[in-house]
Amino acid sequence: KGIVAIVGRPNVGKSSLFNRVIREKKSIVEDTPGVTRDRIYGNAEWLTREFLVIDTGGITLEDQPFAKEIKIQAEIAIEEADVIVFVLNYKEGLTEEDKMIARILYKTKKPVLIVVNKYDKKDLNLDIFEFMSIGLGEPIMISSTHGIGIGDLLDQIVHSMPKIENNIESGISRIAIIGKPNVGKSSLVNSLTGQNRMIVSPVAGTTLDAVDTKVKHEGKEYILVDTAGLRKKGKIYENIEKYSYLRALTTINSSDIVVLMVDSSSKITDQDTNIGGLAHEEKKPVIIVANKWDLVQNKEKAIHDKEEEIRSYFKYLQYAQILFISANDKTRIGKVYQAVDNIVEGLKKTIKTSVFNEVLNRAQLINPAPNHNGGRLKIYYGSQVEAYLPTFVMFVNNPDYVHFSYKRFLENQIRLQFGFEGVPINLIFRERK
Ligand code: GDP
Repeated sequence: KGIVAIVGRPNVGKSSLFNRVIREKKSIVEDTPGVTRDRIYGNAEWLTREFLVIDTGGITLEDQPFAKEIKIQAEIAIEEADVIVFVLNYKEGLTEEDKMIARILYKTKKPVLIVVNKYDKKDLNLDIFEFMSIGLGEPIMISSTHGIGIGDLLDQIVHSMPKIENNIESGISRIAIIGKPNVGKSSLVNSLTGQNRMIVSPVAGTTLDAVDTKVKHEGKEYILVDTAGLRKKGKIYENIEKYSYLRALTTINSSDIVVLMVDSSSKITDQDTNIGGLAHEEKKPVIIVANKWDLVQNKEKAIHDKEEEIRSYFKYLQYAQILFISANDKTRIGKVYQAVDNIVEGLKKTIKTSVFNEVLNRAQLINPAPNHNGGRLKIYYGSQVEAYLPTFVMFVNNPDYVHFSYKRFLENQIRLQFGFEGVPINLIFRERK
């Protein structure tokens, strides 16, 4: 999924634009427990293309001069986004702060779209050419409160979005290694790579650089993406909690598989579940790696309790395998590669419709759907419509009859029967009249 970042000084209308373009499908998306609701990102869709939108205005700094704050917001946009939407205010015209942001944006080669918000044809008192003088191209005139020009803007966003290639198809999967500070992300990267480490993408000219490491293991290539690299450089960003979540989110978004690291020698915290929630909401395959197992006493006895504890915190990640490792001692590191390979196999699978329907019928026989919302679900037939995120459409008597737990049951049946180990399964229910 591509990423769009909205930048601009305060009061130009960034959040109202943000709210216009994201489609929070709150009613159908179940809440992920423990995930922060204070959102500066959301999913949008236009012309069947999905993308992630970030409102950088929500990244605030305490005790810092205001100019520094907008500068950092613009830098984050350059670093994280594929397309940058720079919002200006029609009613107020260009200001010094706008020009300051523009100077930062000149440095990027990424597409920048100039948007002039609060545009109202009634008060044509300002020359739109004034906004062209900022030197970033022709402005798109919009009013986010009145919904003017939003379609044009979305057209241009989709048009400017670079093609995103499928890593799984091209044979090199991207693995995001996420987790709160100090769980051992960098240590894991080191033990996964050994001497074979190769940094592949320090992006020239950017303030922050993502650390991608390409590694070969038993003849196969992988890219490891570590979010910890930044912190090590002692950048101001490290202290911004929202930024670290955003960073985790964009890393997850651009990866095929997520390794969620937790510290097995201490308790799971909100920070862990928040990060795990991001992976779940992005519908990515997850491997939970419980690190620092060397520090745990009575391992035989502890493993069962630990596993249960972790499961109870990450209920929504029930498809995720849990591995107990020590990055420092390099114990069970090979299991991580194994889990990744299993997931890659699952992601590539396409299931024959006839076989799929046999499994559906059997599942309904063993465990008929419960009465729910005034009726009992009957699935007539279904088929796989997509790989990578294995997606199945089921034609049913009434999608309202789908009970949450029954959906889970079906997901589990499909996972078990077809070997989608560690992979989330997307079920879509459609009414067949
Ligand atoms: P990051 O912030 O998630 O990248 O964590 P680091 O990889 O920098 O590790 C943080 C600290 O935990 C360092 O002092 C590591 O030596 C230590 N550490 C990492 N993995 C292990 C492990 O498996 N066992 C133990 N005992 N310590 C570890």
